[in-house]
Amino acid sequence: MNVIVCVKQIPDPALPGELDPDHTLKRDVKLILDESDMYGVEMALQLVDAAGGGEVTLVSMAPNSEKGGLRTALAMGAAKAVLVSDGSLAGSDSLGTARVLARAVERAGGADLVLTATESTDGYTGTVPGQVAELLGWPSLTFAKKVDVADGKVTIQRQTEAGYDVVEAPLPAVVSVTAGVVEPRYPSFKGIMAAKNKPIDECTPSDLGLSGDQVGWSGARQEIVSVAAAPEREAGEKIEDDGTAHERVVAFLEELKLI
Ligand SMILES: Cc1cc2nc3c(=O)[nH]c(=O)nc-3n(C[C@H](O)[C@H](O)[C@H](O)COP(=O)(O)OP(=O)(O)OC[C@H]3O[C@@H](n4cnc5c(N)ncnc54)[C@H](O)[C@@H]3O)c2cc1C
Repeated sequence: MNVIVCVKQIPDPALPGELDPDHTLKRDVKLILDESDMYGVEMALQLVDAAGGGEVTLVSMAPNSEKGGLRTALAMGAAKAVLVSDGSLAGSDSLGTARVLARAVERAGGADLVLTATESTDGYTGTVPGQVAELLGWPSLTFAKKVDVADGKVTIQRQTEAGYDVVEAPLPAVVSVTAGVVEPRYPSFKGIMAAKNKPIDECTPSDLGLSGDQVGWSGARQEIVSVAAAPEREAGEKIEDDGTAHERVVAFLEELKLI
């Protein structure tokens, strides 16, 4: 069984983000593997193990030939990767990104299953998985909190507010997994050393047959007209417990229609 995992390499969310003059997130900084995608990598490794063999391949679109995040996922156990990197990708909106990832999946030779996270940690539009599936002409199953593959079909438990739905589709398919679907393994020292020599096929959009007006700013269907600082978060309400604090907490949760 061959599984491809889309992995985004993002500026470290623990550090304050910066914007470039064109209002996009500054990305010519050290990029790391998006934690959301560690679940996809781990799920892929477990599915390949359960199938008794196969391969996990990574695909990533990132600036400046960035490979740091890919090496982390290769150290977890993925076999190889396709990296699409080129200055013309700057300003890509989610459709531009999906076009690149769909072509990268084809360049990797296709797969039985493509896994992604439900949303990235920096852009978090949550729209790329469905768009990749549409461009590949494959079914997309989203918000999977459990994934099973058998008899040429994938079955997921799709997380909902009320619990979950069971959703099934024939392979190949694109599945987005929720955080916590599995416990990602830590790369071992042996895994980190082995990752240094694992192949990364680096290519450009034109290598994938994509023209300039399909990616980057010229391919984007959105324009950032202005950027404003997010309003300061208001201080919460402090409740001194004189024995009735629970009533105030219950009233507060009722106001928010949480109970
Ligand atoms: C603050 C901010 C706001 C943005 N707002 C918009 C917007 O409103 N509309 C819009 O079209 N674009 C927007 N973008 C740009 C968008 O983030 C990029 O196009 C991005 O490459 C894809 O979108 P996403 O991160 O939202 O993907 P999501 O759909 O949130 O990502 C879901 C999953 O797809 C995979 N994936 C996504 N990007 C990559 C990648 N580069 N390489 C490998 N796998 C990937 C990962 O598995 C990821 O977890 C925004 C970016 C930022 C930083």
